[in-house]
Amino acid sequence: MGKVGVAVAAAGAAAACVAAAVVVGRRVRRRRKWGKVLGVLREVEEGCETSVGRLKQVVDAMAVEMHAGLASEGGSKLRMLLTFVDNLPSGSEKGTYYALHLGGTYFRMLRVKPEGQRSLALARDVERQLIPQHLMTSTTEDLFDFIASSLKEFVEREENGSAFPLDRRRELGFTFSYPVKQTSVSSGILIKWTKGFAIEDMVGKDVVDCLQQALTRKGLSMRVSALVDFPSLVNDTVGTLALGHYHDADTVAAVIIGTGTNACYVERMDAIIKCQGILTSSGGMVVNMEWGNFWSSHLPRTSYDIDLDANSPNPNEQGFEKMISGMYLGDIVRRVLLRMSQESDILGPVSPKLLTPFILRTPLVASMHEDDSPDLAKVAKILGDTLEIPDVPLKVRKLVVNVCDVVTRRAARLAAAGIVGILKKIGRDGSGGITSGRSRSDVRIKRTAVAIEGGLYTNYAMFREYLNEAMVEILGEDAAEQVILEVMEDGSGIGASLLAASHASHGPDAAQML
Ligand code: ADP
Ligand code: MG
Repeated sequence: MGKVGVAVAAAGAAAACVAAAVVVGRRVRRRRKWGKVLGVLREVEEGCETSVGRLKQVVDAMAVEMHAGLASEGGSKLRMLLTFVDNLPSGSEKGTYYALHLGGTYFRMLRVKPEGQRSLALARDVERQLIPQHLMTSTTEDLFDFIASSLKEFVEREENGSAFPLDRRRELGFTFSYPVKQTSVSSGILIKWTKGFAIEDMVGKDVVDCLQQALTRKGLSMRVSALVDFPSLVNDTVGTLALGHYHDADTVAAVIIGTGTNACYVERMDAIIKCQGILTSSGGMVVNMEWGNFWSSHLPRTSYDIDLDANSPNPNEQGFEKMISGMYLGDIVRRVLLRMSQESDILGPVSPKLLTPFILRTPLVASMHEDDSPDLAKVAKILGDTLEIPDVPLKVRKLVVNVCDVVTRRAARLAAAGIVGILKKIGRDGSGGITSGRSRSDVRIKRTAVAIEGGLYTNYAMFREYLNEAMVEILGEDAAEQVILEVMEDGSGIGASLLAASHASHGPDAAQML
């Protein structure tokens, strides 16, 4: 080989070296970026850690806070509101009962016809009506006249042909989802309006009186017997408990896990220290915990939770709800993906959509999490369509599924800890209660049912599985066998009408709650 040949060969070798170096450099950089992203995932996993030990701390904290909230007004972040519901449907109810549910946009009317013996398939008619916008800022009389007229039409239409004794009064359960201070099961003063309503002359008035007067004006004879009140997003726990108790007398608590989360349960009157002197025939009362506002230092909180809270309209409130409910899970996942995208380019340039709060809704998280196609096609489609992140490689799709899993698993396990907290407070967790020193093996747990409602629990199978799994881990297999989680459908409507029925039949027929 001549001189020229050597030079060419050397140049070729050098070029090959450079190319190799570039490839290696790229690979190293890619590996470093991937390492960073895995670091973010690991951090989230650690931050969301819910070992059984930690869950048991949450259980104890829930039971302790329940005590504190019952001891004094403002004694805990758990408001532990009295509902004055002191008896629950027993299943023996018979007849025709109505319910009216005034929600944010719609009001619903229901007619339920229980036939005794826990008639399982309850015959029912439901009608939903949009609340005309102008009535939301009009007068009390206008709003309730409209409701009363619709109800009259509904009642008359449904009863056409069937003989409803003219002299018999109809019972109506009324679910009213605005902050109300209740003084009995059938009276409550409106504290303030929320969700777009602004009828000033009604603030300070008794909600049930307003309805009753309108019904009289319209010539409809109805006794408004149960006002179910929840000063929060969720307003159906007591209805769910009522429906649960109708089907299963061992039902002692109800939990809603939907857009928001809340729980209620049956408490002994003598344990409600902040309200001494009220006697109930059953010796108990349903307490609306408003558990979405529960807080404990044992809750596993990440920087994403802190940011979400700080940017919310109600910082430092509804802390438990912000870790658990359907309104928030999607946004926690979005925040983690945003951070991953900012730390590396595995998701391409940071998509503006990733910066948009609440764009990734929880049902989409569920779809990605439960995508069982080999190439995770649904994940790719949701990332592309909703977050405008195209062409995501399989490895990265898997990572996204991981994030959904971590966030959902924590939510479900914390909800389970909350439920066991209630059971512990009322001595139904198999541990002998929080003051007893007895060991687990001495205590036999009574069969106990908890009614559950809400779109997150009913539609998201992985959430449900994680929740159920955590119940067994916390309670142990023997005790867990005695605890039954029963899904209720439309407790806020049907449950309210059944409450009307059980209140109508008060007296000897009233169910024992305790
Ligand atoms: P609400 O709580 O508003 O009364 P639902 O009980 O029906 O209404 O719950 C609705 C919530 O449930 C939605 O906001 C959503 O977060 C959640 N959800 C609904 N469908 C799904 C789904 N397929 N997967 C996961 N979450 C869902
Ligand atoms: Mg609901």
